[in-house]
Amino acid sequence: MRANQEPASALGSCLEGLQKTWQKKGSLAGLLNDWKVIAGPQLSSNCSPVSLQRGVLIIGASHPQWRQALLYNRPQLLAALKAAGHKVRVLKIQQHHPREYKTTDSELKVWARHPSRIDVHGIAKCNLCGNPSSAGELEIWGKCCFCKQKELKEKNN
Ligand SMILES: [Zn+2]
Repeated sequence: MRANQEPASALGSCLEGLQKTWQKKGSLAGLLNDWKVIAGPQLSSNCSPVSLQRGVLIIGASHPQWRQALLYNRPQLLAALKAAGHKVRVLKIQQHHPREYKTTDSELKVWARHPSRIDVHGIAKCNLCGNPSSAGELEIWGKCCFCKQKELKEKNN
């Protein structure tokens, strides 16, 4: 019987610990504990909960693009927060710099300057096919991505 008792008491203290965590769920501190798991590694290192008051959670984003990512993921985030037991009714997102963010996200930098981004570079007419395409592509390659692909294919043949 002795062997059975120990796991039971271990489980007991484990549940106690869980309850303690549970009690913190109405607070920002409790939410911060879970934030990395809920938001995922990328989002959590660039976006951080700023305040939680009366069910209104404000999340600060380090960069406009992470703000966009948050807005896009808002329904899923809200659902995940609720599922984890946090008393969040509304999710508000703002541009914020509460602390040093990891700025080594090369992916974001690549995307920020990606030639295919029409919102960054604007639209222009391709010199070869005449189709409207990203000005960023035209600037780099002198043609649109389709003409560039065509050119690469022809080179390989
Ligand atoms: Zn073209």
